[in-house]
Amino acid sequence: MSSKKLDFASRAVFYEPEPESQSVSYPIYMSANFQYGGDIYDQIVAGARKEVNIYSRCGNPTEYKFEEHIAQLTGADACLATASGMAAISHALFGILKAGDHIVTDLTTYSSTHEFFDHRIGDFGITVTFVDTSDPVQVERAFTDKTKVLYFEALANPTMKVPPMRKLVELAHSRGIVVICDNTFASPAVCLPHSFGVDVVVESATKFIGGHNDAVGGVITQKSDILPKDWLEDVRWNTLNKLGAPLSPFNAWLLLRGAQTLALRVEKQCSNAAALARYLEGHEKVKRVFYPGLPSHPNHESAKEQLRNFGAMLSFQVESEEHGVRLLKRLQLCCFAASLGGLRTTTQVPGTMAFLDIPSQERHAMGIVDGLVRFSVGIEHIDDIIADVEQALDQMHIDV
Ligand SMILES: *Cc1c(COP(=O)(O)O)cnc(C)c1O
Repeated sequence: MSSKKLDFASRAVFYEPEPESQSVSYPIYMSANFQYGGDIYDQIVAGARKEVNIYSRCGNPTEYKFEEHIAQLTGADACLATASGMAAISHALFGILKAGDHIVTDLTTYSSTHEFFDHRIGDFGITVTFVDTSDPVQVERAFTDKTKVLYFEALANPTMKVPPMRKLVELAHSRGIVVICDNTFASPAVCLPHSFGVDVVVESATKFIGGHNDAVGGVITQKSDILPKDWLEDVRWNTLNKLGAPLSPFNAWLLLRGAQTLALRVEKQCSNAAALARYLEGHEKVKRVFYPGLPSHPNHESAKEQLRNFGAMLSFQVESEEHGVRLLKRLQLCCFAASLGGLRTTTQVPGTMAFLDIPSQERHAMGIVDGLVRFSVGIEHIDDIIADVEQALDQMHIDV
């Protein structure tokens, strides 16, 4: 059956069984290589690639099943799975850019992405301009005749910035510039950037898609009028296969399993996040809350247009970085750890954790103020989450 007419939640669950065994749970093909049996050798010599199995760096049936699932779930024409979210980002960029090209990106991106733009990509002769992509005027001004890519995040860490996608896509496409969006913080359950015209979506599947804090992986999806139709297959053969960052079959299986409960998990996580944001906004020890679902958020209008349920991520500012750390050390139910998107509420202080290696001046330009605490809200009962946060806020002034 075609899943096109189904609701997102049904598409998340549904996939065709493996033809031979008809097993409902898709098998893990834990094999590095595959036999050249029957006429496979002749097919490969004649040019067959994805239609046959050769070697798992070039592709593996479990990985293909995961890719097919994500493509139909997100309305993409094609999907390529990678070993991590960072591999998805670097492969998407290296699949488009050459020495001499220019990128426009946001001041605020995921810490490793920012460091890649700021310290590494220049070594390949690619230049970068950082702007605030929530302001289309700044974006337009930064474009030059060398600009090949506009890159931003659908929901940007940690201020939860929501750039106006339709407008940015229109500006970029009128100059033939490819738009790449990192959708990790939103997840496909909250935002489908292809539906706003974004050409390439990259995502860390480690986060919401997997959802259980147990597997690292990434995805690139394509739906574009300006890229060649076979662009992503070209990235598979000529970039991923050469740089060598395929998703392992076991992780593909874990992420495929995780994706089936994506809609259900994220719906609960979003309603918990909204309730926690409202609670925090009324708390005397909280200076400011950043949640796109709150009318006080500067991008609340873009968020209403582009996001379903406003996401499961929020941040808030307390008196100082030290107060933030003390707060997190006091939490008992919520988990003080890096990463996000899993079943458990996970918290961190972005300034001195994820963004530690970024100088404080740059951090401040990203909106990472001192005393910022970030929550990835999980599926625990909201009363228990709030009770845990409340007891930690109550004791935040006491040295741990
Ligand atoms: C985690 C993350 C990444 C990188 O993903 P990995 O799977 O850790 O490589 C990229 N972008 C965002 C927004 C992320 O949160």
